[in-house]
Amino acid sequence: MDAVSLSAVTLSGHFARDFPEMAIAWRAEEVPDPELLVINEPLAAELGLDTDFLTSSDGVGLLTGCRLPVDLTPVAQAYAGHQFGWYAPRLGDGRALLLGEITHSDGKLRDVHLKGSGRTPFGRGGDGLAVVGPMLREYLVSEAMHALGIPTTRSLAVVGTGRLVQRETVLPGAVLTRVATSHVRVGSFQYAAATGDTGLVRRLAEYAISRHYPAAAAAENPYLALFHAVTAAQASLVARWMLVGFVHGVMNTDNMTISGETIDYGPCAFRDAFDPAAVYSSVDDGGRYAYRNQPVVAEWNLARLAESLLPLLHEDQETAIGLAVEALDDFRRQYSAAWAAGMNAKLGFRRGLEDAVTGPLVEELLVLLQEGQVDYTSIFRSLGKAARGEPEPARQLVPDVTAFDAWVERWRALSPDADAMDRVNPVYIPRNHLVEGALAAATGGDLDPLFRLLDAVTRPFEERPGLERYAVGAPEEFGTYRTFCGT
Ligand code: AMP
Ligand code: MG
Repeated sequence: MDAVSLSAVTLSGHFARDFPEMAIAWRAEEVPDPELLVINEPLAAELGLDTDFLTSSDGVGLLTGCRLPVDLTPVAQAYAGHQFGWYAPRLGDGRALLLGEITHSDGKLRDVHLKGSGRTPFGRGGDGLAVVGPMLREYLVSEAMHALGIPTTRSLAVVGTGRLVQRETVLPGAVLTRVATSHVRVGSFQYAAATGDTGLVRRLAEYAISRHYPAAAAAENPYLALFHAVTAAQASLVARWMLVGFVHGVMNTDNMTISGETIDYGPCAFRDAFDPAAVYSSVDDGGRYAYRNQPVVAEWNLARLAESLLPLLHEDQETAIGLAVEALDDFRRQYSAAWAAGMNAKLGFRRGLEDAVTGPLVEELLVLLQEGQVDYTSIFRSLGKAARGEPEPARQLVPDVTAFDAWVERWRALSPDADAMDRVNPVYIPRNHLVEGALAAATGGDLDPLFRLLDAVTRPFEERPGLERYAVGAPEEFGTYRTFCGT
């Protein structure tokens, strides 16, 4: 077989071509000493990219944006956004580039995007760079989310740049190659709407429909159908986060996709103990993005999307607002339904059980977990064993054993389906102490802990001997977890 070369990589430039108002042609910064740290071979195969090519110097050149097919025009995308509630009219890719779109084996397009590729005109005060730890964190957590079945952007590779980057300390630089069904965000619509050019908003909506919700094109009001579809996708997504104990950390409108994929893993975390008020991000003083606030914030962000779409919904503004409000009302219902269905699955409830029977059992269990500060992931997985008549592992996690035993007896009377539970309750999630340990080692040059953790969390439902330490909460000395925005 001929060696695959750069000329064999077909990336289209749809967004760059169709949205000149929202894209600045830009080149990546030179990388002094590139070193491929991690490559996602299964994802590369799905994208029709040859691993031998990607690991070659041309391939690494593509993954850093330094050697590109001649006809390719990378762009920095413009977007606006509400950050912690405050509107910023001009954010955009300050340290990222959209290389272009590539066809996935499912026949649909994917964006190929670099993060940490150098300062762009959207860079404001930033240096345009990224460092090894946070890029590997995004790689690890996004791939774990994907393995958990939660919609997310994917990670194709992380390349160390050999450049030293000033953060609180001097750290090794890196570039992440991210793959998404698109990078159109709520903030993209806010940006388009703020230009006052309704034609631009309409084109962006049509682009979003064609890439994500083609069925909406046939609706009587395609733009209203688009908004309904985004609302449904986000309701389902945030319910999935809640069910798995994920805290995104920075749910700004520029970090919320139109596709319904999780994006931008910054100060995110999986909680260990069940604590609905859990806040992890050190910059989130008010707890705006605390675990329990996530559905509320998602709805708030969707209202910002609705505002941006208003001129498309109806020519009469009052009517448009009425339509938007009515559509947004669906969010709570959809979220609650998705959450309840997910919780019923986690507890192995069989079809046909009345909500009046399952609802109180769910509520009582969550109270027990919260009062006992019980490890969320471990307890649900252990309940699978309890459903098989082996309650001891679960009992050992719960301080109030008497109350728990009484609960288990009522729950088991409903014959929960243990096998179904094991398909939705993971054994391995990227626990904060494991992630921090793996990233610290990787920053120091030892990638082995990262690869081992990656192996555990990318097959999360399969309990495997030898991986016991990946299935338990943090040791006491790990203390209260805080993630920092120093990305
Ligand atoms: P994020 O918190 O990663 O969602 O980023 C928010 C905004 O800040 C985006 O517009 C980023 O492009 C920009 N940004 C973050 N870090 C940097 C950096 N080191 N240099 C330039 N821009 C940055
Ligand atoms: Mg962002």
